[in-house]
This record gives sequence, structure tokens and C-alpha cells, in this order.
Amino acid sequence: MIHPQTKLKWVSNEIGYGVFATTLIPKGTAVYVRDALEITIGRDAPLAMNPTYSEIIRKYSYIDAKGNYVLSWDHGRFVNHCCFPNTITTGYGFEIAIRDIQPGEEITDDYGLFNLDEDIPLSCDKGNCRGMARACDFDANVERWDGIVREALTHFYLVDQPLLGFFEASALKLLNQYIETGSTYQSVGLQKFVEGSTPPPPSSELRFKKERKISAERSE
Ligand SMILES: [Zn+2]
Repeated sequence: MIHPQTKLKWVSNEIGYGVFATTLIPKGTAVYVRDALEITIGRDAPLAMNPTYSEIIRKYSYIDAKGNYVLSWDHGRFVNHCCFPNTITTGYGFEIAIRDIQPGEEITDDYGLFNLDEDIPLSCDKGNCRGMARACDFDANVERWDGIVREALTHFYLVDQPLLGFFEASALKLLNQYIETGSTYQSVGLQKFVEGSTPPPPSSELRFKKERKISAERSE
């Protein structure tokens, strides 16, 4: 779900629609969250290979850490790329404003984080536009993105969070844990899909499994 104070607007024939802020969205605000209504399409699902649908799916969805396509049910699917975006994907299932977004400003993110199947030519109207979004952008940028996300997270509870009620409980728990203690940060890198591997579970799941193992040993 995209932030409620946004609207869809036609940008140009080349770009199509974009999503624009209708109010000031301060740095640290969750601008998108993967809520329970988002449509998940399996990577190898027949639907994703059906030529009638595959082009739409590829155009409007991103690929999550498990390799599934995630298609937004609302106008979040029209957010455009910018090499200097004002939001970035986090390791907590949401995108965060990394600076104040002014009323009327377009909401943008970096497609380099979307586990791209193929290179996407870019035209983001910036002098230092990198020209192409590639799958390898992930590794090249993850450390820099983590630094930016950590800094933006220091503002998280200082600003209004209209999407907070849509966070997944386990992700919110991990986020609060990080904000309160500074430990167990969930890297942006957790969003990376690696073909043929299962992503590591979030640290709370790891701990849960460890605790379960200990209690199982005790009961033996
Ligand atoms: Zn660019």
C-alpha cells in the first residue's frame, strides 16, 4: 500500500503515470508497505508465463527475496525509478522516505533493488543518471543504501506513520527492536533474491528456532 497522501498523475508519453505527494511527507515516513492485499505471483506460476499476463506482471511488479512477483493492488505500482530516489526499500517490508518529500513532488525509488530479471534502460532526467538499472546494482549499492536507511530510521517515530497499521507484526517487532536497541538491524540486502537459494530468515525467526531447539533438547 502506498502512502495515502499521494495521487496518480500523468508524467509523459514516454514514462506514463507517476505517483506524487499531495502533502509534505517527512523523512523517515513509510511511503510503501507490503500489506496483506498485495498480490503475490509465484515465479514459476503458469500465470507468470501466460503471455497475456506476463508483460503486465513484469512491468508493474517487483521481485521479492523469494523470487516471487509482487504486484501492488493500489497505485503503488506506478512509482517510477530515479537514480537519486526519495524513498528506498528497507529490510522490513516497507519503503522509507530518505529525505523530506515536498507536496507535488514525485515519489521515486531505485529499481536496482527490485531483483531485476533484465536490464531496464533509465531516463530519470538527472545529470548523473546511470543509464541502466541492472540486477548487479544490488551488490554494488547495498552498503550505501543501508547507511541511508539507518539514518532515515532515526526519524521513524518522530513523524506521522499512516501506514503503520499495515505492517506485518513480525517485521514491526524487528523494526522496534532495532530502533530501541540499535542491534539486529535487517539489511536492505535481505531483499535480494539469489536463484536456487532460500533467503535467511529474519533474526527473530532464527532466535525462535534456536529457542525451540533448546526446549526440545530439555524435554528429551
Ligand atoms: Zn537515472
